[in-house]
Amino acid sequence: MVDLWLLLEAAAFLGAVSVVVWRTRVLDAAGGAAAVVLGAVVYLTVGRGGAVLLVTFLAVSAAFTRIGYERKRAVGAAELKGGMRGWRNVVGNGGVAGVAALLSALYPSNHHLFVHAFIGSVAAVFADTMATEVGLLSRGKVRRILGFGEARPGEPGGVTALGYVGALTAAAISWAVSVLFFTNPLGPSRLLLTVTLSSVVGTTVDSVSGQLLQAVYRCGVCGALTEVPVHCGAPAQLVRGIRGFDNQAVNAVCALTGAVVASVVYLLTG
Ligand SMILES: [Zn+2]
Repeated sequence: MVDLWLLLEAAAFLGAVSVVVWRTRVLDAAGGAAAVVLGAVVYLTVGRGGAVLLVTFLAVSAAFTRIGYERKRAVGAAELKGGMRGWRNVVGNGGVAGVAALLSALYPSNHHLFVHAFIGSVAAVFADTMATEVGLLSRGKVRRILGFGEARPGEPGGVTALGYVGALTAAAISWAVSVLFFTNPLGPSRLLLTVTLSSVVGTTVDSVSGQLLQAVYRCGVCGALTEVPVHCGAPAQLVRGIRGFDNQAVNAVCALTGAVVASVVYLLTG
C-alpha cells in the first residue's frame, strides 16, 4: 500500500520542514514533534498535497503572526513566546484534519469524501488564524459577532472587516494549493466552493463559540482580563464561558466545522 519512494519523499520533506521550523522558532519542541507526526500521517494517507497544504498554513500563519507583533503585544493580543506555538495548538488546529486523513486511508471507497473533509478542515483553521492575525492589524473598531457590541482587540468572539479579508485571502491560498498539489484532482470549481464555505463558516462559528463558550478570567492580582486560568502566579476568576474551554477547544470546533461543511459540499455536488 505504502511504497518506498513515498516514504523516502515524506521523510525528506518532513526533515527539511523540521529544520526550517526549528530555525525560525515557529513551533516549540513538543509542537514540532506533534507536527511531524501529523505530517507523516497526512503524507502517507492524503498524500503530498495534504502535507503541502499544512506547511503552507503553518508558514503563512507564522509570517502573519509576526507582522505587527509589537502592536499586538501592546494590546495584549499577541501569541505568547514570540509567536512560537506548542503541541496544543497543533492538536487544536490539526487534530480533526489528522482524523480525516486517517479515515481516508481506512475507508478507501470514501477516500475523496475524507480528502474533501481534510481540505475543508485545514482551510477553516487557516482562515481563522489569518482572520485573527490580520484582524489585529485593523485600525477600526472590533465588534462582537453576536450583538455587535464593541470588543477589545483579541477578545474571543471579536470580529473585524479586515479579519474577513484575511480569511478570504487564506481561502484563496488553500484553493490554489489544493488545485496545484493534490494528485487526485477534485475539480477546481468544487474545491473553490469547498474552501470558501469551509473558511467563512468555520471562521464565523469559531467567533460565535469564542464569544459564547470560551473561558475568560479576571486576574485577582493585576485586574487584567485573560484567557489563561492562572495569571500573575495566582488562579484567576472565571467571568464568562466554560472553565477549561480554551482557545484550542475553539480551534477544534472551527476545524470540525470546516470538515463538516466540506463533506456536505462534496455530498451535495457529487
Ligand atoms: Zn495578572
